[in-house]
Amino acid sequence: MAEKPSPDPETRARSPREPGPLRPIDEVALRDYLADALPPGESARVEKALRDSAELRARLEDVRRNRADAQLHSLGAIWRRGRLTCPDRQQLGSLLLDVLDPDLTEYVQFHLEVIECAYCRANLADLKAQSEAAGASRSRQHRILQSSRHLLREKNQRAKD
Ligand SMILES: [Zn+2]
Repeated sequence: MAEKPSPDPETRARSPREPGPLRPIDEVALRDYLADALPPGESARVEKALRDSAELRARLEDVRRNRADAQLHSLGAIWRRGRLTCPDRQQLGSLLLDVLDPDLTEYVQFHLEVIECAYCRANLADLKAQSEAAGASRSRQHRILQSSRHLLREKNQRAKD
């Protein structure tokens, strides 16, 4: 059996752009690959190209590093950098309950709706979910109390007898 001639990976890596109908494996493709956002066929193609090309692997590392930089803009980082202008959780809670000082309300609403601070919006959504959950459990307790009230009355009645 004769060995199948395979293209030399070094030669292919040196050619700056391979002609062909396929989408070039550029930074966007690599980022999607890292994010697991490529269709399976594409993902396999990128993987194969990565195996064949040291240059492409180096580019993948660059993309990975840049992605780490991008994560500096994540919610946690915004939180750490933005605390000075961000209202605190208690103030957001007061806003929800509509008991926040009017001046502060204006500021916080501006912060949320115009500046669109991602951290505070997430924080507010979280508080809202919590207060809705608490409200639901309060009304459940209320219903239970209502439905068991006659039992209590009967019990008290018996105690008096
Ligand atoms: Zn904020």
